[in-house]
Amino acid sequence: MQRCATLCGRQTALSMVEKNGFPGIIRSEIVGRYRQIRKRKKETEMLVNYHTHTERCGHARGSERAYIETAIARGLETIGFSDHAPMPFPDGHVSGYRMTPEELPGYVETLLALREEYRGRIEILIGLEAEYYPHVFGAFLALLAPYPIDYLILGQHFLRDETGAPYPGHPTSDESVLREYTDQVIAGMRTGAFSYVAHPDVMNFTGADETYLPYARRLVRAAKELGLPLEYNLLGQADGRQYPRKSFFAVAAAEGADVIVASDAHDPERVAEPGELRKATALLSELGVHPLTRIRLRPVPKHL
Ligand SMILES: [Zn+2]
Ligand SMILES: [Zn+2]
Repeated sequence: MQRCATLCGRQTALSMVEKNGFPGIIRSEIVGRYRQIRKRKKETEMLVNYHTHTERCGHARGSERAYIETAIARGLETIGFSDHAPMPFPDGHVSGYRMTPEELPGYVETLLALREEYRGRIEILIGLEAEYYPHVFGAFLALLAPYPIDYLILGQHFLRDETGAPYPGHPTSDESVLREYTDQVIAGMRTGAFSYVAHPDVMNFTGADETYLPYARRLVRAAKELGLPLEYNLLGQADGRQYPRKSFFAVAAAEGADVIVASDAHDPERVAEPGELRKATALLSELGVHPLTRIRLRPVPKHL
């Protein structure tokens, strides 16, 4: 009843404005505001997914078009592609889970063409998911510099500069790995190059919570200080991985950090999957977290 009364009130105000012919600028402001209210998503809906992969990484399936079509069918306003970024390792190391530097032009050209084709139906953003590898990062930014990349997300899949370094997703109770992971993610955040942190809780620490939580708090506080949202990852949730970690998001809630929900889709069907969104909404609202619907994208620096 309360909701109906509120909505009816807005409709009355709107029709009065239209009838009385208020000056154009005021009228359009009021109409725009009304539309915004109508457009506001339901808690379990997604308007933007910033985390989408393509076949170039070698472990995702489906064409870009298939991801876009699913996004449209599920009511998204924007789909952001963020495939695993190419890394120009100085020793020529070729990573098995990312596009090669030679594939970058094709990635960008394909998405630019689709952006034009789908204009008016859905907004398409061109991003990349990258680790912060200190000694490769300058060369990485230089590699991206000629291309219109809209944003980067920080997904710290390996430590140090990847080669021969621990994978934080492997279970460990070694506090030194947890410390290294936390330090490296915070250093990555501080570059100013990233728009948000993907699966910040990917670290599979199996030791006691009293050891884990101070590191989680340090990471969350740094993100808050820098204004960087933390991602609640639907792929980890759907696959029953070690993340999303409830205790991590309890810290995020306690610290008042920004949270964004993203699909991390490696399959077109996984974009904005309704069942996963419902599950995420239930858990986050239990913790008192109200995720953002959109984030502020930071321009990708051309150099360090
Ligand atoms: Zn992946
Ligand atoms: Zn990803």
